Amino acid sequence: MWIGLISLMPDMFTALTGSGVVARGIKAGKLSLELFNPRDYASDKHRTVDDRPFGGGAGMVLMVEPLRLALQAARDRAPHPAPVLMLSPQGAVFSQPQAVEYSRTPALILVCGRYEGVDERFIQRYVDAEVSIGDFVVSGGELPAMLVVDALARHIPGVLGNRISNIDESHLDGTLDYPQYTRPEHSADLAVPPVLLSGDHRGIQEFRRREALQRTFQRRPELLTRRVFNDQDRKLLLHCFEQVEH
Ligand code: SAM
Repeated sequence: MWIGLISLMPDMFTALTGSGVVARGIKAGKLSLELFNPRDYASDKHRTVDDRPFGGGAGMVLMVEPLRLALQAARDRAPHPAPVLMLSPQGAVFSQPQAVEYSRTPALILVCGRYEGVDERFIQRYVDAEVSIGDFVVSGGELPAMLVVDALARHIPGVLGNRISNIDESHLDGTLDYPQYTRPEHSADLAVPPVLLSGDHRGIQEFRRREALQRTFQRRPELLTRRVFNDQDRKLLLHCFEQVEH
């Protein structure tokens, strides 16, 4: 997969490309990131990319033209037609199903805003969707873009070392992940639930599913309203409800 990143602070992305899952994916040739700095496409000697907002108000706004030229450069380099996403606190909140969906796109362009934001005309004309990482505001689109790239890279075949290690993850099927334990069997005055040491694969699977549903019910009940459950899950959920009632 090819990802073009439009950013005024390209150095920030070394945090993503230097180590970890994304770095491994790049090294393995599964993922390639290319950076485009709108400042390189500014038309004056000061390399200006922003200006004051029409109508007054605090801060500066990123101008259309340097962004448009950086986007054109990215499109010229993209090996396939690439949807354009802009990181923005005004977008729909990014989710695990979207991470899976975008991981199947052969090319993607992410636009990182800065300052007070981006001239609306750039968004209207060139952006396919705005993507938020949550209902709060950070100073620029780089950290949000890194989160998006990391989340989708995990679903590109061959990027994760253990090919099945993202199958059970939180949010993939609308529930949270089950609790994890490792050696030793006793630690911090607590023991590992015995079923995990039993070798009973069916029992382990049922324990994990029950725990996943129970903690989703306790911590994020609203997630459970968005899906249909099979008979087995329904039984486990009924058990959770009964426990609350008693
Ligand atoms: N004035 C803008 C607003 O209230 O919508 C916020 C601008 S913010 C300081 C600068 C840039 O950071 C945005 O253009 C966007 O690219 C990025 N950003 C900030 N919060 C974000 C979030 N929650 N999700 C995604 N991007 C965000």
